[in-house]
Amino acid sequence: MIEKRKILPCFPIPYPDECLYSIVARYHVRSGNPHFKLSIMDLFPNSKYFTVASTITMPSHLTCTDHWADSKYGLTTEYIVKNHTAVQLYAIRTNHSPSVVMNPKNCQFRQLAVIHPHRHLRYCPICAQEQIKVYGEAYWQRLPQLRGAEYCPFHEIPYITSAVSVAEAGRKAFTASYVLSLNNSASSNDSADILQHKVDPSVKKSYIEISKDMTWLLANGYKLNGIDCTFKVVEKELSLQSKGLYGRTIEKYALDVYPKKIVYESFPCFQRDAGSYNGYTLYDMKPVQLSMLMSIACGNVSSFAQKRNEMYPDIKYSSII
Ligand SMILES: [Zn+2]
Repeated sequence: MIEKRKILPCFPIPYPDECLYSIVARYHVRSGNPHFKLSIMDLFPNSKYFTVASTITMPSHLTCTDHWADSKYGLTTEYIVKNHTAVQLYAIRTNHSPSVVMNPKNCQFRQLAVIHPHRHLRYCPICAQEQIKVYGEAYWQRLPQLRGAEYCPFHEIPYITSAVSVAEAGRKAFTASYVLSLNNSASSNDSADILQHKVDPSVKKSYIEISKDMTWLLANGYKLNGIDCTFKVVEKELSLQSKGLYGRTIEKYALDVYPKKIVYESFPCFQRDAGSYNGYTLYDMKPVQLSMLMSIACGNVSSFAQKRNEMYPDIKYSSII
């Protein structure tokens, strides 16, 4: 008989939209463990190949969540995966059902590495102030950590890049409250550039729209029921003709909707010399590129999901492992 693990006495109940790494870091501080490694062993006992940095955006080794907190808090693996990782954003580029994607034992799970976090932990300064007011401490949210999200969709200001790199976060528990208290947020020029130089209003508007779309997908990505139908809707709405060779056509449509700066920043492949990028397919796209494509087709991702369900009401996830 497998011995039931003891419920951890001081696991922090996750805050809304808090990323898993932030929860892990706050647990470490509360636990009083002298080494971060001990806290990792508390939370992820089966963590042979575990990397802490992966918890910034991805679920990883979440097979033992039942001992994190009393069951009355409802912190099941599924709840944590859906609400505290970027899995739903990943779901838009796969045909695997939620149960397959969320199963850490499944080999497909490794493909989640496609969700690259930003190089440093980032935050919205106004969100952080509000968190301190409401909860007494700040925490790392999911959206600022994702590539492609540059502005807070609620306060419409650019995210600040903290001094903590993803690599450092993998070695130590950096809570947002601690990092913000150091007031040392200028390690990267990304945010500083946006703050210091006047941003073209159309660029700012597009950044905010992209962040809004990504926020919707983080909460509802599974509603799209896989990538095959997404592509069918895109092909129909944008009248894409030559299957699989969309590079030039997508670039043209993207430039009709988004400012040049954002198109080439989001689709670096379009910057290559003609000839190489024309073979770019929809299946090559990263989550943020797909999100933009949905908006190009239907105005925003929510309208796209509605359209997709009107066109293919009966088609759910098509691949079964
Ligand atoms: Zn904010």
